[in-house]
Amino acid sequence: MEQPRIKIAVQKSGRLTDHSMELLTRCGLSYSRGRDQLICYGENMPMDVLLVRDDDIPGLVQEDVCDLGIVGMNVLEEARLDLQSQGVNNLFNQIRLLDFGHCRLSFGVPVDEAYEGPQSLTGKRIATSYPRIVGKYLERHGVPGTVVTFSGAVELAPRLGKADLICDLVSTGATLKAHSLYEADTVLESRAAIIQTPLDVCPEKEAWIQRLLQRIGGVLQVRESKYIMLHAPRNALGEVRELLPGSEAPTIIPLEGRDDKVAVHAVCRENIFWETLEDLKEAGASAILVIPVEKMLA
Ligand code: ATP
Ligand code: ZN
Repeated sequence: MEQPRIKIAVQKSGRLTDHSMELLTRCGLSYSRGRDQLICYGENMPMDVLLVRDDDIPGLVQEDVCDLGIVGMNVLEEARLDLQSQGVNNLFNQIRLLDFGHCRLSFGVPVDEAYEGPQSLTGKRIATSYPRIVGKYLERHGVPGTVVTFSGAVELAPRLGKADLICDLVSTGATLKAHSLYEADTVLESRAAIIQTPLDVCPEKEAWIQRLLQRIGGVLQVRESKYIMLHAPRNALGEVRELLPGSEAPTIIPLEGRDDKVAVHAVCRENIFWETLEDLKEAGASAILVIPVEKMLA
């Protein structure tokens, strides 16, 4: 019998596409792209990737058309509130946050208008592509306002006289600035997440899903991790160890012909910044080397 195949929904073309495909590739998936460019067929794992609009991903997973999906939490949260308002309780399971697609859903206010907290939204018309999230925010703060739904070019709404302010995704703030808006309160901090169908999957699929998740965990961990090697005076070991970010038990190796110094090797599970290296040097460390980690399986 043919092995059941896992279907993963990924954004077809947009900000999440390359990051999502790279993540799957790093998990060992190699694939060939279908002639219609809508499906990537996994060649070495029983997994295919469906390329779709990001807004369709929560629905595809919720309806069990796809087993897994990679999508921004902003889209997920809007879909969740929408489904709940329709009385649907069988939602997708969010299984892991990922390390890309970082952005904020924030209010953008015209530069010549004051904003002094949620009360300033009273009676205002707010343009957004996230009507449910914004509606809930207004409700939570007990401020009456009107939500105007826009599907794109939200930042033009104030100038067109369609709204007083907007609520949209921001990462650097450059787009807001270009439209004479400034970032006021943040409604939601977002990044990409992987979601799973709410229905039970067969044991063969479940085993592959678990394997994929474990590999994703490994990939995320590796991206943050570095292997660090340095020489340290024995009497500075305590201080040096404290400076190594997220390292458990470093390996201490004697140096030939030197009683006062040792070599320290450690896996640091957090980013190492120049400041850390400077602090290590200050503490007496020398010959400091930082090396990227290729693969890791905890
Ligand atoms: P689609 O055609 O798939 O509907 P889209 O135009 O809705 O595409 P993109 O602009 O590609 O979507 O953004 C996809 C996701 O990337 C967003 O939903 C959000 O989670 C994330 N993202 C990260 N940074 C930003 C940003 N600065 N602006 C918008 N989205 C961002
Ligand atoms: Zn979209």
